[in-house]
Amino acid sequence: NQKTKSNSPSEEDLTRWDRDHHLHPWAGVEGVGKDEYMRVNTGEGIYLWDSTGKRYIDGPGGMWCVQIGYGREEMAKAIAEQTMQMPYASPWSFTSEPAAVLARKLTEMAPGDLNTVHFTTGGSTAVDTALRAVQFMNNRLGRPEKKIILSREKAYHGSTYLASTMTGKERFKTQFDKADDLVHFLPDINPYGRPKGMSLEDWCDAKLADMEAAIAEVGADKIAAFIAEPILCSGGIIVPPPGYHKRTLDLCHKHDILYISDEVVTGFGRMGHWFASEPVFDIVPDIITCAKGLTSGYIPLGACILSDSVVDRMRGSSENDTFYNGYTYSGHPVGCAAALKNIEIMEREDILGHVQRITPYFQGRLRAIGEKFDIVGDARGMGLLGCLECRPELSDETYAAHLQFGNKLDAACEEMGLLLRPFGNMAVFSPPLIMTEAQIDEMFDIMEAGLEKLSAEYAT
Ligand code: PLP
Repeated sequence: NQKTKSNSPSEEDLTRWDRDHHLHPWAGVEGVGKDEYMRVNTGEGIYLWDSTGKRYIDGPGGMWCVQIGYGREEMAKAIAEQTMQMPYASPWSFTSEPAAVLARKLTEMAPGDLNTVHFTTGGSTAVDTALRAVQFMNNRLGRPEKKIILSREKAYHGSTYLASTMTGKERFKTQFDKADDLVHFLPDINPYGRPKGMSLEDWCDAKLADMEAAIAEVGADKIAAFIAEPILCSGGIIVPPPGYHKRTLDLCHKHDILYISDEVVTGFGRMGHWFASEPVFDIVPDIITCAKGLTSGYIPLGACILSDSVVDRMRGSSENDTFYNGYTYSGHPVGCAAALKNIEIMEREDILGHVQRITPYFQGRLRAIGEKFDIVGDARGMGLLGCLECRPELSDETYAAHLQFGNKLDAACEEMGLLLRPFGNMAVFSPPLIMTEAQIDEMFDIMEAGLEKLSAEYAT
């Protein structure tokens, strides 16, 4: 079509417009007018193509979310059909078929008595909803002082005011105001950081002791909830020691502290289950938050799933029990239709079973990298989540390079057709769940070639 073509912006225009006018998430403000991002044009399966036609394996799986891979016509069709039938229904006044079906479906997938869903626009708003529900519950129970949330160093829970308050990453604390009186952080739980020679069992005991100390210091009557990602993902795929989840949940419940499991990343197949909390970590939380893989990233949607016991206590006894929380796009019919199609595809293709079957191979290749390369201090992961952390004991001259490890490895792999997600001295990856064994080899072969290159550089 000649007309469209002549009206289409040129490659140079697109680069310039994005560079000059688009402030990306977590971007340096200095970079506006300077930084140029790779423009992705198409996707198919686990692969992306940039505007020059170069192909990449999508190591980060979008942003931990493209579970079923790119280019699914069925998703496009479901989204188009729902758009034509009913693109929007105000959740204040109406419901829609996809919202009702999805609400029921999510409660069937969730463990225990988590039977009530509040739909949100994404992960941060799901976390905000969980926290506001907890505040609301305690206010209605006549204990407004029970407000503080236990979170953990290196946790990531989102970018809204409350969710970012619970985020325990150092660099997020700078320049922003946060509701600091509402949070108490527990020290880092990364087993990699434990004292040399300490067993995982002793580390788990130490982490429980940290929580006990926090409860004693703050007072159980002041602590409303503990919020925890089953695996701290943005913190660098930190897998807590075995038994940690169950023991922290028991400790919380002993002190009448609610447990919020933030499954924004670990949900929807990443660990081979719809939710990881119960089948993988043996816990039935009071609240689960999810987003991302819920629609495989095809359209924004999130959800906060509440247990009957929380909802019962939110009811309280006084008359005004209106939960004034919700979003214009809560239960968006198109978002819910996309989630239902995504779930249907995952069920039909047995993607949960596939993840369970290929995880040992994926994790095996990851661990082998840790053995093979001296510059890798820790190669860790679980399910289809992986992280390579640079060895800290590098000499002074290479310390700057140590912090650049993620960027350097990402750049080396990008050249060879693999995208990773760099985090300072780490590189993480969470590819689409449909990855085959051959594609796992393709991904790790490139990673190894990238590490060969970096090893040579670090040695000089
Ligand atoms: N919670 C966790 C564990 C996350 O990893 C993220 C995003 O990465 C969020 C919440 C926030 O989700 P969103 O970016 O959809 O608001």
